[in-house]
Amino acid sequence: MSQRTITDGSAGGRIAEIPHLRPVQAGVFAERAERLQQLARSGAWQPYLRWAAALSAAQHTALRGAPALPRPSEDVLAHCFEHAMPPLSPEGHPRNSLWRTMLYDMLRAVDTAALPPAANSSVEALLHSEDARLEAAADALLAGAFTEVDAAQAPFVAAALQVYWAKLALQIGGPVGVPIATRLCPLCGSHPVASVVRIDGAAYGLRYLVCSLCATEWHMVRVKCSACASTKGISYLGIDGGGDAVKAECCDECHTYLKIFYLEKETSAVPAADDLATLALDMLVDEEGYHRVGPNLLFVPGAA
Ligand SMILES: [Zn+2]
Ligand SMILES: [Zn+2]
Repeated sequence: MSQRTITDGSAGGRIAEIPHLRPVQAGVFAERAERLQQLARSGAWQPYLRWAAALSAAQHTALRGAPALPRPSEDVLAHCFEHAMPPLSPEGHPRNSLWRTMLYDMLRAVDTAALPPAANSSVEALLHSEDARLEAAADALLAGAFTEVDAAQAPFVAAALQVYWAKLALQIGGPVGVPIATRLCPLCGSHPVASVVRIDGAAYGLRYLVCSLCATEWHMVRVKCSACASTKGISYLGIDGGGDAVKAECCDECHTYLKIFYLEKETSAVPAADDLATLALDMLVDEEGYHRVGPNLLFVPGAA
């Protein structure tokens, strides 16, 4: 893993060698699936969380069996990191058709007993869909045009794209050169799904943003808007009686928010999974007039 010296204001201004990037791990989707199953046993939203757990487990199967993908050359990677350009951005990266192989692997692996009838219909429809339709759906989702995609099919297509980009990110690993702190994923340029304050080793007390697409994590100081980088007008909203493990970090400069999970308060939290179990917080913050910074691609608006 690459490291650089960063002054992290959130840790009392200390200067330390901290990991700037936390590369995606091979077990990322298994970890999410396990956490979603755990959350589905205890809280609200049980059928939805079971569905999301089944989808994440299928993502893990697809990632485990994924073939090696063509990846940018070392020269291209070095150039991108030197100029703080994400080498795997969906706009610039020529998406290989192998992503559809990953989609089919995922659809065949998913535990259909955990899916509602409508979702089972979507699995069948996608398995028999024309390539051009799938490519158009992928283009739309990657461009954030969620309403252009069939709402019941969108999470499956998005989940396959996550597998594809996670595979690419895994192949690249921890780059030698790292960009300066950025609002977007240093690898793929996507928005974060959430942020998390970690408690392990050199990352203790540091905040990381979690990529909504490739699952790479990158460091950003705390009390700073992840959309406009403002450090003024930041407030934290939570659900009454909902504990301190998750808050919505709200910015009054640009009126956006991103959830922040505190592992010190809930050690088993997995940001992309716990995000789906705390949709009530999204509703609350939405009513306050803040817009979410980045999507959770398993919760495509209108699909649940
Ligand atoms: Zn990314
Ligand atoms: Zn802002």
